Amino acid sequence: MSQDPDHRHHVRRVLLPSGRSIEVVYFDPPEPDALSGAELFPADPPSVDEDLHVCPECRAGLVYPLEWAECSHTQWEVERRCPNCEWQHVGRFDQDVVDRFDDELDRGTATVVRDLNRLMRANMEEDIERFTLALDSDAVWPMDF
Ligand SMILES: [Zn+2]
Repeated sequence: MSQDPDHRHHVRRVLLPSGRSIEVVYFDPPEPDALSGAELFPADPPSVDEDLHVCPECRAGLVYPLEWAECSHTQWEVERRCPNCEWQHVGRFDQDVVDRFDDELDRGTATVVRDLNRLMRANMEEDIERFTLALDSDAVWPMDF
């Protein structure tokens, strides 16, 4: 786990049933209205019994695993947390339910990586623009490097 006092977040690595691991980033608690987007609270939310990523308290589709362990050939014990309302739960779920949870986590990871790449590209474009302006105004000289 790492902590960054400037950005007020920390990262925790979670091992998935597939053997892969993901990093979960914890941020400071959001502003009360910060997580009220339609994508987080769909009008027709899926079943909370079958879709482990949906919080039974606040209906946010942000629930993620803290721990999970195989307890038989067909069942997993999964500890989950909702970052929106701090709900936590430990329960046993069938393999197919856990597989769907894993797929949903993969989709979420892909979305975060795509957004991160867009953000990095936007930041690089801004840096290049600023550097070009500095070169054009003779604010950067060879001895600066
Ligand atoms: Zn919740």
